[in-house]
Amino acid sequence: MIERLSVTSDAREQLKDITDEVNSALRKMGAAGGICQVFVPHTTAGLVVNENADPAVCSDMLDWLEEAVPQGRPFGHAEGNSPAHIKATLVGQSATLPVERGRLALGTWQGVFLAEFDGPRQRTVVVNVVDG
Ligand code: ZN
Repeated sequence: MIERLSVTSDAREQLKDITDEVNSALRKMGAAGGICQVFVPHTTAGLVVNENADPAVCSDMLDWLEEAVPQGRPFGHAEGNSPAHIKATLVGQSATLPVERGRLALGTWQGVFLAEFDGPRQRTVVVNVVDG
C-alpha cells in the first residue's frame, strides 16, 4: 500500500512536523500494523525523526547544519544550492517505522519531519506500508 502526501514548506530551511499527515495516510490505507517507510523523493529535502515537543530542538539542528555547511562557501554546482544538497544527504531521505493499532509507534517525544533545505516549495512524501 502506498500513499503520496503533498507538503508545502514555509521557509528556505524548515523542519516541518508531518506526523499527523503520515498517521492520516495510514488510516486512509487501513493499515492496522506492520512496517511503514516514509520517503522523501527530493535531492534538497530530507526526512528526520526527532523531538517535536520543544521547537528549539529543530532550530538547533538547522543552526548546527548551517555551521557544518555554510552558504557562503564556494561550491561547483551551478544551480547555487549545494548546501541544500549536502544537508539533505546528511539527514537522509527515509525512515522505517513500526505501525501499531493504525498509527506510527513513535516514542513520546518523537515526531516525523520533512527537512526542507531549499524552500519554500511543494514537496512530495511517499508513505509505503507493508502489513504485518
Ligand atoms: Zn541543485
